[in-house]
This record gives sequence, structure tokens and C-alpha cells, in this order.
Amino acid sequence: MPDESSRVFEVVCKGCSRSLMMVERLRDPEIGVLEAHLRACCPSEPLGDAPMLGEVMAPVRVAAVERA
Ligand SMILES: [Zn+2]
Repeated sequence: MPDESSRVFEVVCKGCSRSLMMVERLRDPEIGVLEAHLRACCPSEPLGDAPMLGEVMAPVRVAAVERA
């Protein structure tokens, strides 16, 4: 079994291909950061005032990476 604690997730914006964060898991603060970026990055597809998690996650790519 791989060691779960050594794994982090890289969140990359599909819109600008920028790596937004490396996190162990996405919690409300991280999701808030994603929301803020998406509002600035993708004004053509604005998020609602209280976007669903799926709406925030749709424009980003999440990849598991092994921590060095
Ligand atoms: Zn972006």
C-alpha cells in the first residue's frame, strides 16, 4: 500500500495552465482560493455567488503527486 501521508494533490487551472496549489486535501480555505482565482481568470464563465463544489472543480485539474 502506498503511504497516503506522502501524497499531495496539485491543482492546476485549465484556463491558464498555472499550478495554483499543492495540498494534502481540499478544505474550505483552499476552495476559497480556487474560487478567487477562477473569478479573476475566467471572467467569461463567472461563478455564482455560492458556487457548488462541482462548479469550482470543473475548471481545474487535480493530480496526485508523490511528495519528494
Ligand atoms: Zn487560471
